[in-house]
Amino acid sequence: MKKCLPKMYKKNIFEVPYQKLKKEGIKCIAFDLDNTIALIDQEKVEQTTIDFIKKLKEDFRVLIISNNYKPRVSSYAELFDCDYVSCALKPSTSGFKRMRKKYNLKKEEIAIVGDQLVTDILGGSRAGAFTILVDPLGIKDLKITSINRFIERRILKSFKKKDLLIKGVYYG
Ligand SMILES: [Mg+2]
Repeated sequence: MKKCLPKMYKKNIFEVPYQKLKKEGIKCIAFDLDNTIALIDQEKVEQTTIDFIKKLKEDFRVLIISNNYKPRVSSYAELFDCDYVSCALKPSTSGFKRMRKKYNLKKEEIAIVGDQLVTDILGGSRAGAFTILVDPLGIKDLKITSINRFIERRILKSFKKKDLLIKGVYYG
């Protein structure tokens, strides 16, 4: 369960201190897609997000690593002009590993940003990356996510008890 605890927790992708990460040696930001960058039923993302990601690409290699299917993930990757992994089966680390090899990155040079403890954060921790949790953009989740959220609620309860992570109390 320790591996479900993020290293950093922020409200959304815009609040993450990217320059600090850069100074600490992070070279690649791997974003989750659904409810991290875009709402699950959103076909197009706001121009502000596109501009933001494009700006981020000046400092980092930006990737999308998503459990969703290729047509959706690739269309977003095209918008941002970045590489991606679809059907990543997070918390499996295979997508992270593939990208790490492809771009010759060290584990500790990658930060993952996602809205789910049991896929993004657990997968990122297992891959040895720096993990950043953000609040989900919307309340609606993909059907397949409901079981994850159920598990997540139990983990959050335990984290709260131990004063490790409280939803809405952002840290680090
Ligand atoms: Mg997500």
